[in-house]
Amino acid sequence: MQLSHFGEKFAAPSGISELMEDLSAALADDPSLLFMGGGNPGRVDAAEQLFRRLMDGLLSDAQCRHELLGLYQSPNGDRSFREELASYLNKTLGWEVKASNIALSNGSQSAFFILFNLLAGPGRSGNARSGSPDCFRHIQLPFAPEYVGYRDVGLQSDFFRAERPNIEMLSDDRFRYSIAFEQLKIGDNTGAVCVSRPSNPTGGMLADTELEQLSTRCESAGVPLILDAAYGLPFPGLVYGGAQAFWNHNTVLTLSLSKLGLPGLRTGIVIAREDLIAGFNRANTVINLASSTVGPQLLRGCLIDGTLDELCRESLLPFYSERRSIALSTLARERGSLPLYAHESEGGFFLWLWCKDLPIDSAELYGRLKQRGVIVLPGNGFFMGLAEPWRHQQECLRLSFAGDKSRIEQGVTRVIEEL
Ligand code: PLP
Repeated sequence: MQLSHFGEKFAAPSGISELMEDLSAALADDPSLLFMGGGNPGRVDAAEQLFRRLMDGLLSDAQCRHELLGLYQSPNGDRSFREELASYLNKTLGWEVKASNIALSNGSQSAFFILFNLLAGPGRSGNARSGSPDCFRHIQLPFAPEYVGYRDVGLQSDFFRAERPNIEMLSDDRFRYSIAFEQLKIGDNTGAVCVSRPSNPTGGMLADTELEQLSTRCESAGVPLILDAAYGLPFPGLVYGGAQAFWNHNTVLTLSLSKLGLPGLRTGIVIAREDLIAGFNRANTVINLASSTVGPQLLRGCLIDGTLDELCRESLLPFYSERRSIALSTLARERGSLPLYAHESEGGFFLWLWCKDLPIDSAELYGRLKQRGVIVLPGNGFFMGLAEPWRHQQECLRLSFAGDKSRIEQGVTRVIEEL
């Protein structure tokens, strides 16, 4: 069988697909492994009870059941959900958003596939001169590391550009990346700038002032800013400091229901200017025909009556805050004199460790940790788009603290023992 260029790129094993297969095989072989590797949200009682009650309500009513299971959503996505979301954003955040500024997708991952390829890649006539309207445009990441799920989404190779961040040492066991604005190039060859906030993998949160500055740079270059708030604001709101939600007409804000505890429903949300949303919906119809009805139907009414905000504030945030404290205090207690630094944890549910001067590569460390019964993610895959190799990219690990409380302490301790 002869595969196309698309086939060769997308059917081939990628670093991340191999790693994910390895993770699930390891877990299937030995369920006692301490699993700190994936992006699954934690099991939060109050969330499970709420979703159960809402689902029961939908299933017990014949008309709701029919709308849930028996109809395609319109190409623009469930209208009443988009209207409710628009009015929620308007009331709670003062954003001038209408239903026509909102698109729904089957998970935000599939939204990235469409958005990135709508905005970046070769222009109409292929590889025209740089700077011309037809030139190849890149997705610019303000810095690497960034979400590994972006890595293979581009239809062409060489899709990303990224800079090294500034590294600020905050204490003898904490550090923080920040955007090196003086290095950042946003110009004619930039299709869009994209950043996760809170960041997967680092748990950092672009400060409000950093985000304003980035947004201004994008706007003056006429380049959209894609802001991935899968863990952030306004929901699920896994933010430990005082940052603000952000959107304006040059921003493409992506949200997801996954980290609320609903990754199985595959619902992503895109909020952007109307012409981009219209184009997005046409592309989504070609690829998916329609998006899933379940997420929008399940949460109907919960935005406007405050149920969702209450769940985020009263249940999700305390759940993850407690686990974050366990992870950080175990690290502080066990690290001894190792040159081991945690990225400042400002949001989401990952701890990003920098094992400075690690004599082996983090992929090898991943294998050794697996032998020791703990699964983490090696940092290498998160560094895409850099022009030059960087020793730092082999020295980092990502640990999820979304799991059982008792296992977080054990997991962090085993990582330190191996180090
Ligand atoms: N963005 C970030 C930063 C993520 O971590 C993830 C998943 O882990 C996604 C987007 C995609 O999430 P989903 O497709 O479940 O909405």
